[in-house]
Amino acid sequence: MTEKRTIYLDHSASTPVDERVIQAMLPYFNRFYGNASGLHHQARASARAMDQARRQVAGVLGCQPREVVFTGCGTESDNLAIRGAALAAQLAGRGRHLITSPVEHHAVRHTIDQLCHDFGFEQTVVPVDRYGMVDPSDVARAIRPDTVLISIMYANNEVGTVQPVAEIGALAHERGVVFHTDAVQAGGFLDLKVEPLQVDLLALSGHKFYAPKGVGVLFVRHGLPLVPQQTGGGHEFNRRAGTENIPYVVGLAAALELAQAARSEENRRLSALRERLVEGVLASVSGAQLTGHPWQRLPGHASFVIPGVDAGGLLMHLDMAGVCASSGSACATGMPEPSPVLLAMGIDPQLALGALRLTLGRGTTDADVDTVLGILPGIVESLRAAVPVYAPVV
Ligand code: PLP
Repeated sequence: MTEKRTIYLDHSASTPVDERVIQAMLPYFNRFYGNASGLHHQARASARAMDQARRQVAGVLGCQPREVVFTGCGTESDNLAIRGAALAAQLAGRGRHLITSPVEHHAVRHTIDQLCHDFGFEQTVVPVDRYGMVDPSDVARAIRPDTVLISIMYANNEVGTVQPVAEIGALAHERGVVFHTDAVQAGGFLDLKVEPLQVDLLALSGHKFYAPKGVGVLFVRHGLPLVPQQTGGGHEFNRRAGTENIPYVVGLAAALELAQAARSEENRRLSALRERLVEGVLASVSGAQLTGHPWQRLPGHASFVIPGVDAGGLLMHLDMAGVCASSGSACATGMPEPSPVLLAMGIDPQLALGALRLTLGRGTTDADVDTVLGILPGIVESLRAAVPVYAPVV
């Protein structure tokens, strides 16, 4: 029996670790294993590896190495950025007002909600349009004398929309407000230079660009006051205590450089595959709608809502056919809830339950797109046939 090929279309959730990244990491597990804080030659080897990795990341971000803070994941980077900057502003008596959008990842939304619920902050959630896009003029209007932080993501995980981050950064700086962007989904695809983006805090996560899970980065503009979320030793310039995870940091730096070096060619390839996938799905699945911006979106990101199906059933049937995909709704619990991101974009709650996200990556081929286009319409039809209440869209 031949084994069915896995078609992995969930790169926004996580990516496989690049073989070159694994090779870069290997020596730091059992050959150079010293604690980077020590004074002997083993420790110095680890410290050199950290310095080198920091310089590599700083090169990609166009910042000073000391502005690069390594963390345990993207969620931690967002937490440190938002809670750290907000609490520092509160301690300095500068205000307690935060601005964000309704399409942020939980790592941002729940951190801001907690600041409001438990620490006396207030938030303004600016609207998004039907593509999930923030209008910078809404952000400008929301700024108050006591606004201390704006947090708007670079690219959305559910619908792929790329936000006008540089414009928001410019207006934040004009008004003297700290600007954080969650660039976790952008890391492998978009320009991360912090000066043109005008960001003060930028979060990345290794496992979205072919480094392992469990390592992240936070760019922190030099001199920005930040209350550490983890206290202990003086690691990471007193921003994040804890013995450094040298192999993972080395892996993240290698992966980021590799992804950024290949990105213009790879983005072209992925955009062409995505376009074919989107056009094929819209043409062959009746009633399917693209979610997110039609072109201001991540190159490998295709997302839809499909009437008359529930995402859980759809994902299960795709999985049985060898296709790994995902949706924006929390269907894993058995009590499906429409995604707040899709609701904020004005999508009908019932329709939002049929969300499908197909995110392409380095291993995705033309043949994979053909296979998905070949099986998806049949799966949708069989699911609709099993739910007689579905009235076909005319
Ligand atoms: N922010 C965004 C936009 C994400 O997509 C994710 C993960 O999916 C995160 C933050 C959290 O990153 P991590 O999985 O490294 O904690």
